[in-house]
Amino acid sequence: MHILVTNDDGINHPGLLALAASMKKVGEITVLAPDHNWSASGHVKTLHRPLRVRPTKLPDGTPAFMSDGAPSDCVALALLGYVEKKIDLIVSGINPYANIGDDVTYSGTVTAAMEAAIGGLPGIAVSLDTPINIEGEKDFSAAALIAGRVAARVVDEGLPRNTLLNVNVPYLPLEQIKGMRVTRLGLRVYRDELVKRDDPQGDPYYWIGGEAPTGVPEDGTDVGALNDGFVSITPIQLDMTAYNLMAEISEWKWE
Ligand code: MN
Repeated sequence: MHILVTNDDGINHPGLLALAASMKKVGEITVLAPDHNWSASGHVKTLHRPLRVRPTKLPDGTPAFMSDGAPSDCVALALLGYVEKKIDLIVSGINPYANIGDDVTYSGTVTAAMEAAIGGLPGIAVSLDTPINIEGEKDFSAAALIAGRVAARVVDEGLPRNTLLNVNVPYLPLEQIKGMRVTRLGLRVYRDELVKRDDPQGDPYYWIGGEAPTGVPEDGTDVGALNDGFVSITPIQLDMTAYNLMAEISEWKWE
């Protein structure tokens, strides 16, 4: 079992270190992660500039590689041949904040696992639902342990083609986590606000600001599971076709 470990927060992020340590108990690992933070970068394929990869080490001495590409580029680099040894599973994270609902389309953590699916391999994205008021070092230990359990299950059971697992772990000590729930994507509520300012030349620039997103904690969803103290495991498929709209749109007049 050869596991590619990556993330979207960059090679030096403690969530990656925790995930790598956990995956070493499941199989042999190769770490290839971005050299800086790509959070909320979405699904990227870098085509207009060269990609560089350099060997490095994680803080515990684990050999690793860092690239100036996006998380999904790191996965593509590995699967297209940068990593010579055959890869069996790709695990991304541990993101320090939840990736739930529509977050999955923004998330570099999740899109790295999507790239795994496109490459024909099982992918797992792991995120920790850290409250925004937690300051200082975050505790990734429970999420790392759970990531190891999920990876071991995926190794045993396999995943169908073009699917991945999006795992979100509540920010609780392991003994307070109530269990695992298989969920659907819930409703994220974004509270984005456009901030307009003037640069020193007097030209306007814009920032997307606002408060952190919330969610609707509906039963059966990722938001609901986290809210109830459960690990959320959402199976994701890359086929985003709205099947229930096909018949209706076929009826439109196409003249
Ligand atoms: Mn991130």
